[in-house]
Amino acid sequence: MTTQTAVQGMYLAGEWMTREAKIDVYDPHDQSMICSVPSASAEDMLLAIKEAKLGMKIAAELPVYKRMEILHRAAGYVGEHRDRFARTIAKEGSKTITEARGEVERCIETLRISAEEARRINGETIPFDQRPGSEDRLGYYFRFPVGIIGAITPFNDPLNLVAHKMGPAIAAGNAIIVKPASVTPLSALLLAEAFDHAGLPPKILSVITGSGSKVGDVLVTHPDVRMISFTGGLETGEKITHQAGLKKISMELGSNSPVIVLKDADLAHAVSATVSGSFSAAGQNCIGVQRVYIQESIYDTFERLFVEQTAAISVGDKMLETTNMGPMINENEARRVESWVEEAVGKGANLLTGGMRDGAYYAPTVLTHVAKDCTIAQQEIFGPVVLLYPVRDLDEAIDLSNSVNYGLHAGIFTENLENAFEAITRLQVGGLMINDSSDYRIDGMPFGGVKGSGIGREGVKSSILEMTEPRVVSFKLKHRKHE
Ligand code: NAD
Repeated sequence: MTTQTAVQGMYLAGEWMTREAKIDVYDPHDQSMICSVPSASAEDMLLAIKEAKLGMKIAAELPVYKRMEILHRAAGYVGEHRDRFARTIAKEGSKTITEARGEVERCIETLRISAEEARRINGETIPFDQRPGSEDRLGYYFRFPVGIIGAITPFNDPLNLVAHKMGPAIAAGNAIIVKPASVTPLSALLLAEAFDHAGLPPKILSVITGSGSKVGDVLVTHPDVRMISFTGGLETGEKITHQAGLKKISMELGSNSPVIVLKDADLAHAVSATVSGSFSAAGQNCIGVQRVYIQESIYDTFERLFVEQTAAISVGDKMLETTNMGPMINENEARRVESWVEEAVGKGANLLTGGMRDGAYYAPTVLTHVAKDCTIAQQEIFGPVVLLYPVRDLDEAIDLSNSVNYGLHAGIFTENLENAFEAITRLQVGGLMINDSSDYRIDGMPFGGVKGSGIGREGVKSSILEMTEPRVVSFKLKHRKHE
């Protein structure tokens, strides 16, 4: 497949640039090369930052109605080219064409919400006279853009997670430099193309393609970059947090999300929703289900239905409408998952279905009796593997859910309000889905986690708050009269 991006190169401050050094982009289905993008140098990133210093002034001075027009036009462009966007996501990544189409629609929505939220960047009045001696003061605060935002994104939602950085950054009047995942840079470049066509003034946006250690480091450590908005793995997130120094940081990291199924749940619904939440994007989904805690009296039925539905998932060619699940992002990742499953089986786990690898493909897999000290019981699997556990009651399910160093989303299936509220109060997560799996999100809600799952919240409105700074204004009045 050739895409226009392959010809245009990377987007540096409004210019399409090519470089001799290249990163080859492969389709994980058969390892065929799709195209090459520039492998940017540290100097390229320094140039992007220098241009963004001019861009941040242009961005801040853009009236809100113009930011809104640009964001709506970019959304319109994505909509007009939705098929090319979807094919690009499906080709360079793991998603099936159906999943990719869903991501394109969400990207359009993210950009449109960003346009809408641009008009709601409000301050508040401040009652200064709450303090004796300040009776003669009136004032309020505005919100101002932070300046230059460095955005670093992962491979698994290569378009919409980039839109979640670009949309709010532009809505809030910032310049933004995006470093997309090296394995999936094409969707991010297509989004730059959309903003280019939408009339975004040059210098406000760059998409620099290159390795995390070479160009990512420059972006993270540069003092002129005032905020790092990172989405990716815990290990990388921790490294970046240490390197970044004194700047704003937003961290959207991983998880090994729990789902609790109680005996009063609608069982058929719980099974199908949990299977779907476990294997979307071949399990490479930050809110994908990894651990399921099922109350003992319904455990056997749940396990039987869960395994039946998992075994029926059709795995194969991503571009076919009938395929439910594609490959993992590359063979190395599939081998990692394979080794984690082998470790668990070696320590006594039961493999109920799956457990087979073919190149980058790993079969949807269900394990039980996984020992606590297995890697797969503690870390994020980020692959198509689910662990089922019987539990006595809600108390035990909550304790086990909280027993890991992650806390992004959780799900609970119950028809009992008391149980739901118990879970709301005690689960250590950023989002809890009642009667759904952990795999639910809309783009206009606060999104993020606690513990090792991150710092701060995305979701357009929350991102805009993170990407702006309040500035307090106080008027001292000479002749304020007090009754
Ligand atoms: P990753 O951490 O390997 O890479 C993420 C990005 O960081 C890539 O662009 C990579 O090139 C860059 N990077 C790597 N080293 C760097 C460095 N030293 N300096 C700067 N940049 C560097 O993650 P991944 O494998 O692409 O994505 C999977 C992870 O992302 C999973 O853990 C998943 O849960 C997480 N994720 C989280 C969310 C969320 O919103 N919470 C959403 C999607 C994915």
